[in-house]
Amino acid sequence: MTAQPIDGTALSTQIRAEVAQRAAALTARGRQPGLAVVLVGDDPASQVYVRNKVKACHDAGVHSVFEKHDATLTEAELLARVAALNADPRIHGILVQMPLPQHINPHKVIEAIATHKDVDGYSVLSAGELMTGLPGFRPCTPYGCMKLIASTGIDLRGKHAVVVGRSNTVGKPMALLLLQANATVTICHSATSDIGHHTRQADVVVVAVGRRNVLRADMVKPGAVVIDVGMNRNDEGKLCGDVDFKSVAQVAGFITPVPGGVGPMTITMLLVNTIEAAERNAG
Ligand code: NAP
Repeated sequence: MTAQPIDGTALSTQIRAEVAQRAAALTARGRQPGLAVVLVGDDPASQVYVRNKVKACHDAGVHSVFEKHDATLTEAELLARVAALNADPRIHGILVQMPLPQHINPHKVIEAIATHKDVDGYSVLSAGELMTGLPGFRPCTPYGCMKLIASTGIDLRGKHAVVVGRSNTVGKPMALLLLQANATVTICHSATSDIGHHTRQADVVVVAVGRRNVLRADMVKPGAVVIDVGMNRNDEGKLCGDVDFKSVAQVAGFITPVPGGVGPMTITMLLVNTIEAAERNAG
C-alpha cells in the first residue's frame, strides 16, 4: 500500500476531546449543552445509530434526551413532540432519526425543527445557508469529510474535486463545502456515463453511493485524496465502503478506511454542531 490512511477514529478522538472541554465550560456557566434524539419505530440500523449518538453525548458531557416512539406514532404526534423540544431550554439540538415510517412526511418533520436547533443541517433553510455561504449548521457527514481532507494538510484551493453521489444529505452538501473551499467541483451520479473519466482527473474524490467497488484503482489519479463515505457489507458480511480499498490504496496518496474513516466523524460533527448551538444560545 502506498496511500497514507486517514485515521477518522484518531481525528474523532481529538475533536471529541475539544468538544468535551467546550461542553464543560458551558456546564460550568450553568448552560450544559443538550441534544434530543428522536427515534420512531424499530429499524435495527437506526437503533444502533441513535445508541451511538446518545453514548457520544454522554462521553462528551453533553446532556441528551432519547425519545423512542412506536411505529404507530402519528405525524401530528411527532410534530407536537418536535414543538415541545423546540421550546425546551435544556435542548440545543434536535435530531429525528431517518428513515421515518411511511405514514410520516420526513420533510414536514425536518422543517418543523427550529433552525437554531437543526444540528443535522437538513432543513431547507440550513441548506440555503450552506448554498449562500451564510453561517449555519452543515450536514454532519460532509462536514466530517472536510475535516478528514483538512487533516491531510492539502489546500483545496484550485484543486479538482469529484463527488460521486448527489443525495441531499451527503453528495450535494459535500460538493458545496468543497466549492466553498475553492476547489473546482464535479458531481457524478447514476446517470453519469463514464465516472472514471472524471475521477481520473481529480485531486480529491469523495464517494457516497452505497455500492461496493464503485471506485477502482484504474479510476484514480496517482496521489489523489480518496474519501469513502459508503457503508456496505462484503461477501463475508463485514462492513466495507464504496471504494475498492486494496487496489485504490496502491494508487492514491491518502485514503479513508471503512470502518474507521468517515463513520466516527459523522457523530463527532453532530457533537460539534450541538456545542455550537449551545454556545450561540449562551451568547
Ligand atoms: P443515497 O441517498 O442512496 O444516494 C446515493 C447516490 O449515489 C445518488 O445520488 C445516486 O445517484 C448515486 N448512485 C447510485 N448508483 C450509482 C452508480 N452506479 N454510480 C454513480 N452514482 C450512483 O445515499 P446517501 O445517503 O448519500 O449515502 C451514500 C452511502 O453513504 C451509503 O452507503 C450510506 O450508508 C453511506 N453513509 C454513510 C455515512 C457515515 O456516517 N459513514 C453517513 C451517511 C451515508 P442518483 O441521484 O442519480 O440516483
